[in-house]
Amino acid sequence: MEKEGRIGVTTENIFPIIKKFLYSDHEIFLREVISNAVDATQKLKTLADKGEFKGELGDLSIRVSIDKKAKTLTISDRGIGMTAEELDKYINQIALSSANEFLDKYKDSANAIIGHFGLGFYSTFMVSKKVEIITKSYKEDAPAIKWSCEGTPDYKIEEAEKKDRGTDVILYIDDENKEFLEKEKIESLLKKYCRFLPIPIVFGKKQEWKDGKYVETDEDNIINNTNPLWKRKPSELKDEDYLNFYHELYPMTFDEPLFWIHLNVDYPFHLTGILYFPRIKSNLDLQKNKIQLYCNQVFVTDSVEGIVPEFLTLLHGVIDSPDIPLNVSRSYLQSDKNVKKISNHITKKVADKLEEIFKKDRSQFEEKWEGLKLFIQYGMLTEEKFYERAVKFCLLKNIDGKYFTLEEYKTLIESNQTDKNGTLVYLYATNKDDQYAFIDAAKEKGYDVLLMDGQLDIPWMGLIEHKFEKTRFVRVDSDTVEHLIEKEETAKVELSDKEKEALSEIVKSQLPKMDKTEFVVEFKALGETGKPIQITQDEFARRMKDMSAIQPGMSFYGEMPDIYQVVVNTQHPLIKEIVSETAGKEKEELIPYASENKKLKQMIDLALLSNNMLKGEALSDFIKRSIDMM
Ligand code: ADP
Repeated sequence: MEKEGRIGVTTENIFPIIKKFLYSDHEIFLREVISNAVDATQKLKTLADKGEFKGELGDLSIRVSIDKKAKTLTISDRGIGMTAEELDKYINQIALSSANEFLDKYKDSANAIIGHFGLGFYSTFMVSKKVEIITKSYKEDAPAIKWSCEGTPDYKIEEAEKKDRGTDVILYIDDENKEFLEKEKIESLLKKYCRFLPIPIVFGKKQEWKDGKYVETDEDNIINNTNPLWKRKPSELKDEDYLNFYHELYPMTFDEPLFWIHLNVDYPFHLTGILYFPRIKSNLDLQKNKIQLYCNQVFVTDSVEGIVPEFLTLLHGVIDSPDIPLNVSRSYLQSDKNVKKISNHITKKVADKLEEIFKKDRSQFEEKWEGLKLFIQYGMLTEEKFYERAVKFCLLKNIDGKYFTLEEYKTLIESNQTDKNGTLVYLYATNKDDQYAFIDAAKEKGYDVLLMDGQLDIPWMGLIEHKFEKTRFVRVDSDTVEHLIEKEETAKVELSDKEKEALSEIVKSQLPKMDKTEFVVEFKALGETGKPIQITQDEFARRMKDMSAIQPGMSFYGEMPDIYQVVVNTQHPLIKEIVSETAGKEKEELIPYASENKKLKQMIDLALLSNNMLKGEALSDFIKRSIDMM
């Protein structure tokens, strides 16, 4: 029945196009051929289940082998095989015409083609100069046939010798792609793409360490786990199974995940998978392990951006769905309705899980908060839907290590931390030690102080201020404690302009010169017992600078100097003393006066010290002066 013919396609260019455009991702040919073999095997199993195939199924393993001499890579299955008519229809006509159609559609956008899409069987021509299919249908008395094609639209079909049912695909690897004849290369590709395929994939024999070297055993080397955890029933699984699977996925990660979600959706789309919440402490931990996307247990990609919301890419684990259209470009994916639904579903499940733990086991949630915080804040900042859920369970931690929900915290501070305009003022510190003096002063006034030392705390506070009415976050050192929360009209400064000018001159002359740092002298009447001099940093300007460190495009703020307010308490006896001592003095006399005034220097240094700004020589001078003064 020998037959020669032309593949049903008009353009002569299809093979050069396949080679050229798919070059960057040519390894996917192996995934395509093995997926076909898996499909053919599963179809046979289905037929057997239905009673339509009555023969012996026998060993259904798919075998991959390399013949270095013949320069071939062979993939053999014992699936349904193809009759001559089927081969003609599926390989000669449909497969190639769909490949052709695809290339036609995307011929203007090479990138779309280079991405992940299944050219199916014809992708083998990316690496082969010739491909043979030797196949024998499961149907009784079907003869074995051989199809061969040398990368031109011409093919050949002839009768062949094959005892057993199934299909062998033999790739004659071309010279530019010799790497695909290397055992290590094929092994790594099989591990990448076929690790969780549902049919055993055999590649050579298992090796054994014997007498100082590896020797081959008789046992088949099966490279995959055919029944991965996400395909199993959650009710049958223990925590240990999930943890073991986590380590199977990420053998180089020794940290345990915080918890996980087993996804299992049948309607309105199909999706299974397991998502793990890793402990994320800083952005250094990010993106080391990635979510792996599978389509019917075939690995597709581990760059799931655009498929799931960005913050979910921080999670680990697997998602398996036949309903994600993988054969298209990323921009198409982002607008695909199914992908949107899937993405919303996953967001919802993640929020459900977090809420469940929060409600059922608050102490566990608090314990794990530090590892979860970055993830939850990132989600709130980037996904409105997630924000709406998380705002109920996201936590604030105060300086004493106590946790509160936003609602609880509001109740706690409402009575004492509402200012005269009805704005609720959340006080916070970013460093417990550096800002100790300010924290202490605030606590003394009965205020509560939050610890906001996380990487996303600054933008997150901005988000909450934007979402909540009349809410302001203020760092404890951004003003004197008397002014952090303005309650009633405060006392007026009773100094003349001339006195202010002179005092300002005196204080300024004794302030240290620091790189990229500016001091502005201010006067406030803070009572006789208030500190004589304090240094504060305006919330707005400081926050802009902090934001610029994490947000591109704001570097302008980063370049600006740090501006500090030097707040002089005009009601303090030591300050009053300076005012009266310098009354009537000429301008030229002020600076010599200031340089001689040890008490003034001491007051300034104490203020610097409270802000952790007194260092090196200045600190040593301060200590010497203190001893002198005792
Ligand atoms: P797709 O797998 O997307 O349908 P392919 O080009 O990969 O496209 O394959 C075309 C068709 O050829 C398959 O749908 C299947 O009917 C048939 N086929 C390919 N490989 C095998 C195989 N190993 N055994 C049986 N049939 C196969």
